[in-house]
Amino acid sequence: MSNFNRLLFIVVFVGTLCLSHKYTKPKVVPEPPPPVITEPVPVEHGPYAITHQVPTKFLSYDEVVERLKEWHKEAPEITEIGVSGQVQSGKDVYYLRIGTPGKPKLLIHSCIHGNERLAAASTLGIMGTMLHDYKRDEQVTWLIENRDIYFVPVFSPDSYLRNRYIEGEDPNRRWPYPGSRADNQATPIKVMQAFFLKHKFVGAIDGHTTGRDFFWPSIARGADADNLRRLAGEMSDLARYSPSRVGSRPAGYAIDWYYWKGAVAILTEFGSGSHDQPRSAIEPEVKRTYKAYLHFMQEAPKIKLDPSRLAEKVPYSGGCNRNSRPHF
Ligand SMILES: [Zn+2]
Repeated sequence: MSNFNRLLFIVVFVGTLCLSHKYTKPKVVPEPPPPVITEPVPVEHGPYAITHQVPTKFLSYDEVVERLKEWHKEAPEITEIGVSGQVQSGKDVYYLRIGTPGKPKLLIHSCIHGNERLAAASTLGIMGTMLHDYKRDEQVTWLIENRDIYFVPVFSPDSYLRNRYIEGEDPNRRWPYPGSRADNQATPIKVMQAFFLKHKFVGAIDGHTTGRDFFWPSIARGADADNLRRLAGEMSDLARYSPSRVGSRPAGYAIDWYYWKGAVAILTEFGSGSHDQPRSAIEPEVKRTYKAYLHFMQEAPKIKLDPSRLAEKVPYSGGCNRNSRPHF
């Protein structure tokens, strides 16, 4: 090998070594696996597209049940549909629960008197508006996340749209109170009493027509009466209604029983004039009472009732006042 060839060989050999060293891939060190996330990722619900908010007509009982099912389908995360019991005909008494389990429980029903159709329509309108307002209105969002509200828009399916009376009795004159005899209540009353005692509601509204009033229980005394009068007054200011005690003495009203059993209870008289209000009365009445109902949901659980009201004493005279004063 000549000197030139020897030099060329060395240059090529060294060059090849350098290049092969330069382009050797570095050893790949695997990256550590990502940390396992054990905390559940919160799922955002709402706002919801609610097809029907305020009823534009008076719904039959079957249509009411369909509406509750539709709402549950449209807002499944914040609602539950269920049955509180069966009335004499075998029909189920449906409720729609709106809110968050574990939060203070409220009961809002209407049409204990079946012929007071504006009461059921207004209660449905309040429900539909709340579902629409979730994640659109700050107060409603807070209420749905901090209250557990059971709505029963039709208390008495067998008399709904037909009759004030059920099983021959006025169903808002047959509830026991301290000192009364607990005799033969109509089936829907027994259903609702069992439902109330099962859930231990801390607040209740009983919706009727008419008069544009918010009443507080007749048997409340002392600080309880002051608190309930104040709440009815605040609700009245919001709805331009009138606050009043439901009577000077008990007469078998649902709200007296609810109060006796531990709930802040209010009776609503929706609308003015006759019980046969036109369908055009529904939307204005919902608008008028909506904020008052929201106020009740917010405030009722904050009122601490006097436990001495639970004493089984006989402070009142007279029995159930069967069919007197057919106003409430
Ligand atoms: Zn009534």
